[in-house]
Amino acid sequence: MTDSKTTTASTPSPARPGGDRPRPRPGGGGRSRDDDDRPRGRTGGRRRRVCIMCADHIRYVDYKNVSFLRRFVSDRARIETRRRTSACAKHQRALSNAIKRARHLALLPYTADHIRISQGR
Ligand SMILES: [Zn+2]
Repeated sequence: MTDSKTTTASTPSPARPGGDRPRPRPGGGGRSRDDDDRPRGRTGGRRRRVCIMCADHIRYVDYKNVSFLRRFVSDRARIETRRRTSACAKHQRALSNAIKRARHLALLPYTADHIRISQGR
């Protein structure tokens, strides 16, 4: 039921008043490295990561969609961690199940050894 629904979600970007441009510091002769405008503290410039499957409204991770699943498998054929996939818990679980299913059907490799098949050791 994933038909191509024409989503006309062309949000007109509102003209936000530009207020956060770095202005030059008065009286600063030489640049000091300490004085960049990076916020102090660890919660300052943290990028908010959103689960891409939640963003795409994917309710079911298809185990047959190999090209999609490959993005969540490392080059050593391992399932990427949540830190790297930035998936939420629900989708990471669905993802790992789908990858394991795809492995069982030989759509994805289990190990890196399965990738280099005819290399000959
Ligand atoms: Zn999600």
